[in-house]
Amino acid sequence: MKLSKLASQIAESPTFALNEEARLLRERGEAVINLGIGEPKNKTPISAVLASAAKLTSGEVKYTPPDGLPSMKKAVIRYTEENYDRLVAPENVSITNGAKQSLFNILYSILNPQDEVIVIAPYWVSYNEMIRMCMGIPVIVTPEDGTFTPRFEDIERAVTSSTRAIVVNSPNNPSGAIYPPELIEKIVKVCEKKDIFMICDDIYHKLTFDRNVAVSAYHFTKKEIENSHIIVVNGVAKLYGMTGFRIGWVIAPRDLARVMSNVLAQTTSCVSPLAQAAAEGALNGLQSIVEALRLQIQNNRDIVLQEMRTFNGVRLIEPAGTFYALPDIRAFSHNSVEVSKFLLKKAMVVTVPGIEFGMEGHIRISFAGSVNDVTEGIGRIKWALDPTSPNEIYIGDKKIIRDWM
Ligand code: PMP
Repeated sequence: MKLSKLASQIAESPTFALNEEARLLRERGEAVINLGIGEPKNKTPISAVLASAAKLTSGEVKYTPPDGLPSMKKAVIRYTEENYDRLVAPENVSITNGAKQSLFNILYSILNPQDEVIVIAPYWVSYNEMIRMCMGIPVIVTPEDGTFTPRFEDIERAVTSSTRAIVVNSPNNPSGAIYPPELIEKIVKVCEKKDIFMICDDIYHKLTFDRNVAVSAYHFTKKEIENSHIIVVNGVAKLYGMTGFRIGWVIAPRDLARVMSNVLAQTTSCVSPLAQAAAEGALNGLQSIVEALRLQIQNNRDIVLQEMRTFNGVRLIEPAGTFYALPDIRAFSHNSVEVSKFLLKKAMVVTVPGIEFGMEGHIRISFAGSVNDVTEGIGRIKWALDPTSPNEIYIGDKKIIRDWM
């Protein structure tokens, strides 16, 4: 069978693949704990359910404008004013099928073949694949000092005449790092100076812990939205736990938003009005649910920190936001794929190998799930890797003895 070379080279999403493996094991009756996928456990906010149900019962479920329902755009405009202190016009907004489609449509709309996009490691797995799908070249900048925060000089050095954009994801998946405001400011300035886009993937922007805040890039520019180099991506998946509704959005200069709309119109026509109504309901409803989720996630983060303290050999940089931790497991192995496979086989815990995020020697742990899953999951990882931990454990109702060290 002859397939596209480009499409054939696109990697499978590791988190979805691991999720499927976990599901199959669970179906076989195994007591699997999934610390792989980044998905809060909360139920859909009631305001979202009611808004979507009202749309459904109206029987008016038709195509919407490709850039989104006017009422949904209005909700996004209000969100942007409240959270970013920016008043944008409906022409600056594009509603998409998840933040994933936002990112793809941006890249498709700004890249010519062989254009470069700077991606900061550790990075979310899909950026590089999407850049390649759009015929671009990902240029990776990796912090050299063992932290998860890049040095500005390294980013600046990676900029060439072919650079079209820098992707900034802070709070960061997979590390939980929040980049300092001075770094964000310097990236804004270099983008303005060199006429390149700064793509801010803000999907976790309110999931921050303690006194940490993720300062928006808009804070550091005097430019009006139409001349701005900043493109903001956001959505309801993480902050409202609405991953299955597939709603994201982009705030961009209108020329770019228009091109993106055409791309969306010719590929998926529009986003389902049922999902748009749900997202609108969430954005217009009680916002205390976001704070409730943040507090619950912060509590889980504290449990991760507490459990990790008694984990000999593992080094963890405290996550300041998101619901991920990226412990350094090099004391046990430099091969994160092998460690993740081992943990699934022996301890029935799903983790994601750090190599997928450009950080070999680490594994990503999601603490978006229940307190029980987080506590037991880390307990099992400790049992499997740390020889100083007790060598007996219960996995489900089976008592297992560690016999490999
Ligand atoms: N960006 C980042 C950094 C993410 O972690 C995710 C989801 N894992 C997305 C974008 C995509 O979000 P959505 O589900 O809205 O497509």
